Amino acid sequence: MAKLEIRDLHVNVTPKDSDAEPIVILKGVDLTVESGQTHAIMGPNGSGKSTLSYAIAGHPKYQVTQGTITLDGEDVLAMTVDERARAGLFLAMQYPVEVPGVSMSNFLRTAATAVRGEAPKLRHWVKEVKESLSELEIDPSFVERSVNEGFSGGEKKRHEILQLGMLKPKIAILDETDSGLDVDALRVVSQGVNSYRERENGGVLLITHYTRILRYIKPEFVHVFVNGRVVESGGPELADELEENGYVKFTSAAAGA
Ligand code: ADP
Ligand code: MG
Ligand code: MG
Repeated sequence: MAKLEIRDLHVNVTPKDSDAEPIVILKGVDLTVESGQTHAIMGPNGSGKSTLSYAIAGHPKYQVTQGTITLDGEDVLAMTVDERARAGLFLAMQYPVEVPGVSMSNFLRTAATAVRGEAPKLRHWVKEVKESLSELEIDPSFVERSVNEGFSGGEKKRHEILQLGMLKPKIAILDETDSGLDVDALRVVSQGVNSYRERENGGVLLITHYTRILRYIKPEFVHVFVNGRVVESGGPELADELEENGYVKFTSAAAGA
């Protein structure tokens, strides 16, 4: 069992202009995600959802000014980005980076070595990769290409889910995994996430603006995220309400507060 605990998290971003004042983006986030649970964070654009995922992953641009993040009681904020991955955290990003000149297969094996603490035996590894590729309906030639270079939106997402399946993290943070996917790709990607949940009993934090992906990946917990905070938590019925009425009720309440 793993438990990611976020308490009273405040995060600033300092704009590129060094004279600029830091902008306060997260204003006291509380959230707990355990193994076997799927939480959806839903909120309007610009509410700070990606900032939350970057802060958990340790992106240097995002400064935590208050609050804590722990994984099984260990201080995540004291860990480097690599240490967070080794501890079992995984972030699939809204805009994955391109890594020219590094093939997918090398990238994956290096990542698996870092996370597992030893290089996977080559014969087992080849088999593992093959199985994951076929499950995600990815052409085997895919892994010889450079990481994300020239990938379509759907290919990038499949690549992330391929990583998820192979790295087997304790807690996976999936930020807008549904963006830019057609229905077929959405189905395959969702299947990958669902099989990760079942096989690894992984915890999932699914961050999204739209309710569409929740038809394929069913969360037990839904949180409404507005203006840098969780303003309401509930079950799947909360997502249905958002689908029907949008975020207006929550954004106007936050503005009046
Ligand atoms: P969401 O993912 O909910 O759309 P983000 O976390 O991407 O929201 O952004 C929240 C707010 O923080 C936005 O107003 C955005 O412009 C601002 N922001 C995020 N990252 C940066 C950055 N690196 N520099 C300046 N502003 C940023
Ligand atoms: Mg956004
Ligand atoms: Mg975002």
